[in-house]
Parts: sequence; C-alpha cells; structure tokens
Amino acid sequence: MRSEPAAGAVGDLTGRGKDGTGMIADERMSAFIDSLDTGNTPFLNEIESEAIRTNVPIIRTQVQSLIRLLLAMQKPASILEVGCAIGFSALLMSEYAPENCHITTIEKYEKRIPIARENFRRAGREDRITLLEGDAAEILKDLDGTYDFIFMDAAKGQYIHFLPDILRLLSEGGILLSDNVLQDGDIIESRFAVTRRNRTIHSRMREYLYELKHHPSLETAILPVGDGVTISTKRQDAGKRGSDLT
Ligand code: SAM
Repeated sequence: MRSEPAAGAVGDLTGRGKDGTGMIADERMSAFIDSLDTGNTPFLNEIESEAIRTNVPIIRTQVQSLIRLLLAMQKPASILEVGCAIGFSALLMSEYAPENCHITTIEKYEKRIPIARENFRRAGREDRITLLEGDAAEILKDLDGTYDFIFMDAAKGQYIHFLPDILRLLSEGGILLSDNVLQDGDIIESRFAVTRRNRTIHSRMREYLYELKHHPSLETAILPVGDGVTISTKRQDAGKRGSDLT
C-alpha cells in the first residue's frame, strides 16, 4: 500500500536539502554509491578532470555506471549520441561497447568540437567515432538507418522536438537513454514555482516524459539517477502500433 508523504516532506521526496541544494538523490547516499564505483581508464579520468576544470558539463559517475551496464546488456552495433561536448561520454561508450560498434555523436558548440576531435585522436578512436558538427535539429533529419543505442544528452528543452527523429532512428529492441530529465528536482514543482527562465524547459520536459511513458512503441522507466534519467526500449512489434509521433 502506498503511504501518503508527511506534510511538508517534499524536501525528503526530492532529496533536496532545506537549503535548496537541488540534489535529487540524498547527497550522502550518492557519495556512498559513488565510493563503490570501480572507475574508468586513466585517459577517461584525464578527460573527466579536464571537463570539470573547464566547466564542461559531462555525465555523472552514476550515469557512467548505468551506461556501462546498459552497453554490457545490449551489446549495440551502433550508437547515436546527441550532445558530444568534449567527447567524454562518447569515449566512455567506445570503451565499453563491443569493439565493432560504431558511434555517431553530434555537437554544435564550435569551441568544443576541436577538443572532442583531439580527444578521439589521442584515444586512437577516430575510426570508431564519427563527430557530426551542427545543430542536432537539422542533422537528425538527414540521418537514416537505425541505431541500437541512443544517448540523448543535449539541450533539455529540445528533447521533445528531437523525439520523432529519435524514434525513427531507434532500432526495434533498441535503447534510448535520456539524461538530465528531472531538472535538479524542479520537474515536480508547479510551473509557477520554477523561475520564469526555466518555465519553457520545465513544460517541454514534462511533455517529453509524458510522451516517453505513453508512446505505444516505447516501454520507459524514469529513474532518479544523477539529475534524472529515462531508459526506454522500442518494442519489437513497434511497427504494428500506431502513433502520432512516428
Ligand atoms: N554527453 C557529454 C558527456 O557526458 O561527455 C556531455 C554533453 S553536454 C551535457 C551537452 C552538449 O550538447 C553541449 O556541449 C551542447 O553544446 C550540446 N548541444 C546542445 N544542444 C544541441 C543541439 N541542438 N545540437 C547539437 N549539440 C547540442
């Protein structure tokens, strides 16, 4: 039986401290989980440190661990990433995906593109990772074929706009992982409680989560890992199910 949360316990539900630190999971719990992580290769650690030092947002430790798990289970032959930054997650995926897996990643921020390319070169992964430069809104439309694993990690307000192409590009039985979907806990707030600046993202992300949960071709779990992730799989009989989005 579900018990009702105690009055005023929203802070506990979101894991937010009373100081509004914006943590989704309890900070001590996160630190404990992170302390058990076995870590990455020295080269990945180096890029992660560079990203942190230069304020480039990259996936957190628990999302890294989730990706490693999903890749071990899925064994994808092809991966599509939306949001490359300086290539940390693409290199992580190339490390843990099967050797013959090809990764296509998209980035539009011109300052990050040469850094990502240099990181791929230094890792000796240029032949396994293709970096497409430009706005994913345009690039996705021109892609064809299918991908067994798609990692959505770009501007949060655009996920809902990318979704029709993402669904077209995801293979049946494929996995779509989306990061940063709970907006530091803001997602559960009324739109009037979030800052005006974040309201559009807030409503678009709610719409995105609704679509992922209700789309007839998808089975989706929303998990409070990191800043919130969704894991969706495209049903094997997706072609037979009707939808407004595909
Ligand atoms: N996945 C990366 C990692 O963990 O190493 C981090 C990606 S970072 C959170 C998001 C990136 O998406 C930024 O570098 C940003 O420039 C890029 N981005 C945002 N919107 C985009 C768009 N419409 N097209 C292409 N790239 C976009």
